[in-house]
Parts: sequence; C-alpha cells; structure tokens
Amino acid sequence: MDHNEKRRASRQEDRAATTNSIHFTSSHSVEQWSAVPGYEGAYEVSDQGHVRSVDRRIVDSRGVRRTLQGRLLTPQVNAGGYLSVHLSRGGRGAHPPVHRLVLAAFVGPAPEGYETRHLDGDPANNALPNLTWGTHSENELDKFDHHTHPAQQSIHCPRGHTLRYGNLEPSHFRNRRRTCRACNAAKAWARYRGLTFGDPTVLDYARARYEDYIADPVAYIQWKLLVDLA
Ligand SMILES: [Zn+2]
Repeated sequence: MDHNEKRRASRQEDRAATTNSIHFTSSHSVEQWSAVPGYEGAYEVSDQGHVRSVDRRIVDSRGVRRTLQGRLLTPQVNAGGYLSVHLSRGGRGAHPPVHRLVLAAFVGPAPEGYETRHLDGDPANNALPNLTWGTHSENELDKFDHHTHPAQQSIHCPRGHTLRYGNLEPSHFRNRRRTCRACNAAKAWARYRGLTFGDPTVLDYARARYEDYIADPVAYIQWKLLVDLA
C-alpha cells in the first residue's frame, strides 16, 4: 500500500466512524489490489474487478530511461457483455477477460477445464464475491437461473402457441425447460387415436387445449400449484 492509498483508507475509516452503521459495509470494503499472475510488476487487478498498470522504468525508443506512470485501464465490452483489458509485456499484447484475472489473482489458477461463473448473471460484475471457477454444466445451469439460456428465449412453440404460465409443461418447467403444454397434450391425444401430429383434427385439439390453458385463470393456479409442489 503506498502513502496515498494509506491516506485514502484512513479517510474511509474516519468516514465509517462518523456515519451510522447503515454505511458500514460500503465504507468497510477497501479495494484490495494484487499482481496479475504472469504480469507481476506491470499490472495489478483488484477485488472489485478493476485493472491498473503500475509505475515502471522503461527505456524509450530514443534510449532515454523514464518512468511510465501507472493508470487504471479502461475495459472493452465484448458482444456477450464480458469485459476484457489490453495487457502488454515485452512487445507482446494479450486481451484476457477481467473475470479470469480476478480469479487467478485472488483464488488461483482455474482447475483443468473450468470456466468462470458470474453468480448474479451479470457478465460485467467482476467483483470477487460474484466470481467462482465452475464446470461448463454449472455455467449452463446458471444461465437457466438467470434466464439467459437460449432455450428460454423462445416465446412461441413451433405451432405458434405462446410459451407462458398456463401453457408451460409443469414437469418440464421444473427441469428448467419450457415446452408447449398444449402440443404435449395433443401429441398424447394423437398417439391414442393413431393419428399423426400434422392431422388437422390434432392441430384443432392442440389449439383448443392452448386456449383452455391460457384463458382459464384456474389453469394458471393449477399450473402454479403443480410447479410449487414439485
Ligand atoms: Zn404448441
């Protein structure tokens, strides 16, 4: 901790002492910094998910020795909402995601085949308490919990029935899948009569079931009960 940091930290403690306990948690958490593994002496990462370069002595292109002032790096946001930073050392650049730097510095290297889990589902929240190494399947399950999995993005079944409350198959919903309850009922009905699913009477049956499930408030309550009892 350098002199300025110490002054900042003691100011924060003073503030914590003079304000009431509601402010305690935010005043209490002083940002911790640690060297980025593989970039010791060049970059540091904090438990809040910030990355900074540290002051370093270099010889510039004219052969003059000078000190490069450290600074906070501005992360780039990729298409998935994840943050990465540009790090360079010895003329070689890299763009590691910030979440990996936080975990590598404060937790340790990823076990073989492990990925980063963002526990609250926000890919830009790289604070240490929000991160953990996890398996690919844990990561996929997180996406269901956060409603970001592609399978949860569809609004309609292939036959145009809206996938919402009364029309979601309860047993499938419990297993984190959203399947059309009306179509499921129609498939069973068609099987019983030896009809194919494309048969017009089967499609009529599916549409009638769908209207029952969606329109009837009792169906919704029954559906809620089935899900809650699971
Ligand atoms: Zn359907």
